[in-house]
Amino acid sequence: MTWCDRCEREFDLGLLRDDGGCPACGQLLTDAPSGGSAPWHFWVVAAAAALYLGWRALQGIIWVVQQII
Ligand SMILES: [Zn+2]
Repeated sequence: MTWCDRCEREFDLGLLRDDGGCPACGQLLTDAPSGGSAPWHFWVVAAAAALYLGWRALQGIIWVVQQII
């Protein structure tokens, strides 16, 4: 069994897609050991995504302020 964080449920390894993705959402699951900590490259991607989303949110706030002024 392997755990999908996105679906918050377990899947049998035999149910995974050919590329090792979650059968429900497609997230790759074979790299992540079940019950273990996430690999370092997961955190690099997560940090980059957080920075990007934070930057986009800041841009959105600036846009709203410019419409008000
Ligand atoms: Zn999933």
